[in-house]
Amino acid sequence: MSYLRAVDPFPLESAEHNKLHEFYARLAEGRLVTTRCARCGTTAWPPRGFCGGCASDAFEWITLPSEGIVHAFTVQEAGLPAGFDGPRVFAVVKLGGHRVFAILRDCDPARVAVGQAVRLAPLRVADDPKGNARWLPAFTPA
Ligand SMILES: [Zn+2]
Repeated sequence: MSYLRAVDPFPLESAEHNKLHEFYARLAEGRLVTTRCARCGTTAWPPRGFCGGCASDAFEWITLPSEGIVHAFTVQEAGLPAGFDGPRVFAVVKLGGHRVFAILRDCDPARVAVGQAVRLAPLRVADDPKGNARWLPAFTPA
């Protein structure tokens, strides 16, 4: 399937397009990472190329825990973006002191519950226009 850039629903993850492309490279390896300010130590979610606290653009990557707890969720039955099968469960997952918005995969929407333990299971989506693999953060019941 080919996409026109104007309708490509996924982020451009390559190093040429995205200063934070390391996030996607590590996600492809099964790790969820984010940025920590090298000056003041503030940890951001989502990853940021500059610090919201002190405005420094020096940062390092840290790995977040791979397990978390469902804080909230919703089930989308219609109007899904191209390439997604429905119904799709979207959740806010509490992990490592952050609240991460992500897809819940391989689960029965009727059995998802607030407080449920989930673990990281990155979702491979359509390749970019150059054929490079792309991944989104996703979780599955632990
Ligand atoms: Zn800072």
